[in-house]
Amino acid sequence: MIYLDHAAATPVCRKALEAMKPYFAEEFFNPSAAYLPAKSVAADYEQAKNEIAHCVGAKGSDIVITAGATEANNLAFTVVGRNHGKAAVLYLETEHDSVRCVAESLGGAAVKVLSSGVIDLADLKGKITDETEMISVSLCNNELGTIQPLAEVAAIIREVKMDRMKRGVKRQLLLHSDASQALNLMDISVARLGVDLLTLNSAKVYGPKGVGALYVSHDARLRPLVVGGGQEQGLRSGTENVSGVIGFAAAATEAKKHIKSNRLKYRELKRILLDDLQGYELINKKHTLDNFAVLCYNGLDAERLVFLLEERGVYVATGAACAASKGVRSHVLAAIGLSDSEIAGSLRLSLGELSDAEQMHAAARIINEVVTKERARVDENPSA
Ligand code: PLP
Repeated sequence: MIYLDHAAATPVCRKALEAMKPYFAEEFFNPSAAYLPAKSVAADYEQAKNEIAHCVGAKGSDIVITAGATEANNLAFTVVGRNHGKAAVLYLETEHDSVRCVAESLGGAAVKVLSSGVIDLADLKGKITDETEMISVSLCNNELGTIQPLAEVAAIIREVKMDRMKRGVKRQLLLHSDASQALNLMDISVARLGVDLLTLNSAKVYGPKGVGALYVSHDARLRPLVVGGGQEQGLRSGTENVSGVIGFAAAATEAKKHIKSNRLKYRELKRILLDDLQGYELINKKHTLDNFAVLCYNGLDAERLVFLLEERGVYVATGAACAASKGVRSHVLAAIGLSDSEIAGSLRLSLGELSDAEQMHAAARIINEVVTKERARVDENPSA
């Protein structure tokens, strides 16, 4: 198997797996229970939260644990007041569906991206009104790997807040960012980014699936989506997923140690892959994570390529895994101006821990062979 879909899922790393094991059996206690072994589990859980928070320059008490990034993104939008105006929310048009759907449900307006996939800051400025309460811009896009200039977005927000203050407009204006794809490849600091809310995802950084976290600044007032026993400071009730959080902390801490070396490694592997590949157009040329390559084989059907490549043991994607399962056209590739035919012919390759140089050469050889065969088939019978 040559796995080139690390943006969809990563295998749990050994350190995380080992760290989690005791909490399934011996250390099974409910952290809310009153006896000593349970208190010890509660302490381990808090320590794991501290470690996750530490990875983004925050404190454990600043984060709320959720069952994944989807829930963290949904929770972030509860900062928008109940009596919000029509244009309370702005979000980047290329956001993951877990942001887009909730933003749209609140009547949010989409901010445009440039053809590079980077936010159009002029469009953002033009769309902020006195009703805007929250702006959501992911740190890295999950289909293109595009890295957004969040500090510049934060600077615009600061200017707007100053102006509002001068004019006596009291409405909050908060910046949320979904950093699901970034924690193992970027040195993230909430202060440096200037975010009020930040989503993290264990499943993308070699931790267990179904675990996420939302960093919440002191200025942000959330409303719980899940109520009950009052865990997570009343913001996310339910018995804590101790093993999951311990695994996430171990994976995130490990990932943080290797950011620099991983970036260099993926840059080199991507170079090998792109050098060996033929007959494609690289879509994400700039401002992108080192492990993402989006290739367009215009005139071919990428869905068919995914299937043919799987037969040869190479696993790739046409875009977000959740969009692929619904068979919908990528809103991200449409947003950067690709034609329907270019979107239909685009493959996303995402490298990771399972990738090495030998695999890159082999993957390129197989992809070249499959693409050449497909081109010949399509040229022979264009309507097929
Ligand atoms: N946000 C981004 C950028 C993602 O890539 C994903 C997962 O693909 C999610 C959110 C949702 O994560 P989960 O399905 O783990 O809740």
